[in-house]
Amino acid sequence: MDLYEHQARQLFEEHGISVPRAEVTDSPGRAAGIARGLGGRVVVKAQVKTGGRGKAGGVRLAEDPAAAERTAREILAMNIKGHPVRTVMLAQPIDIESEFYVSYVLDRAAGRFLAIASAEGGTEIEEVAASRPEAVTRVPVDPAEGVTPEKAAEIVRAAGLPPRTAGVLVRLWQVLTREDALLVEVNPLVRTAQGQLVALDGKVTLDDNARFRQARRSGQETSNDDPLEAAAAAKGLNYVKLDGEVGVVGNGAGLVMSTLDVVAGSGARPANFLDIGGGASARIMSDGLSVVLSDPGVKSVLVNVFGGITACDAVADGIVAALDAVRPTKPIVVRLDGNNAARGRAVLGERAHPLVHQAATMDDAARLAARLAHIS
Ligand code: GDP
Ligand code: MN
Repeated sequence: MDLYEHQARQLFEEHGISVPRAEVTDSPGRAAGIARGLGGRVVVKAQVKTGGRGKAGGVRLAEDPAAAERTAREILAMNIKGHPVRTVMLAQPIDIESEFYVSYVLDRAAGRFLAIASAEGGTEIEEVAASRPEAVTRVPVDPAEGVTPEKAAEIVRAAGLPPRTAGVLVRLWQVLTREDALLVEVNPLVRTAQGQLVALDGKVTLDDNARFRQARRSGQETSNDDPLEAAAAAKGLNYVKLDGEVGVVGNGAGLVMSTLDVVAGSGARPANFLDIGGGASARIMSDGLSVVLSDPGVKSVLVNVFGGITACDAVADGIVAALDAVRPTKPIVVRLDGNNAARGRAVLGERAHPLVHQAATMDDAARLAARLAHIS
């Protein structure tokens, strides 16, 4: 799970990394009061989980509380790269002398972490890496050894950062390990005119698999942007919102991914996808279908199930239960194959719901779902 900048800022602060004084709000009126408390002049920053906010006009200096209110109102009305701005952070402005880039990221292929550092911070690192690859330094970090002061000094030397940034690198490693993060990034890490090192912007991705041992994360979880993703997560389902018109339900990540491809190949776009997993019981199928059908972007649904541990007749029972529970108004195309497929098809045939169509193969099912999406 990606955190908002203000949540990353909070973690940095807890681990002893200097950050600007700041506060978050969703109200322009309160922004004025916050600005007053911070000394009048503030930087107003859109809180969205995407980079390049500055370039998009989502990071702006306000000279006084009245300007902070106006700027907050404008930024709260913005949509940055498809992310509506719901809150802004007001921060005390920092007098920047230089901007650096530092991050740790999990390198899955190598089974290690990678420290990435650059003396040219501020712009997005992908851009620096593309235009001046020699300005970006990568140093592997053995997870068992971690970033000791010696390792930090090595990274600092390799990247040409000021020697004192080594202390920040050690603390940033503590953020990564103690918070169970997969990525921690500070861009820019700035040296102020007074010689202080301050993390001006942060990105943190937490490892969802470590949720069980990070009890205090519950507060961050509730900030899920998409209400349907939150509803699906609450039911233990893996649901992802996309931008197209065909809702996709399948069992198992591989089958779901290929279903997305087949839908795209049939001239439609997936509206979302939901993986009901290997042990897709009737109950899970019913929960899953109700989530997908509540997505306003969905014009038709494609259910693609290969019966294995859970037999197709159980899946068909789930679909029938869902039909009674959610009363769909959109067509549903079902393709059942594998364990007990014939019995599953018979269950659906008996129910004979006018909106449910069966298809024999995945390709047929995708074509039909695409056609129904375009005419409904
Ligand atoms: P991003 O565009 O989403 O990466 O947002 P950042 O928070 O990194 O801000 C973008 C840029 O705005 C930074 O690289 C700085 O150059 C500038 N900026 C942000 N906050 C301040 C500040 O307090 N003082 C000054 N002088 N510049 C700032
Ligand atoms: Mn930044």
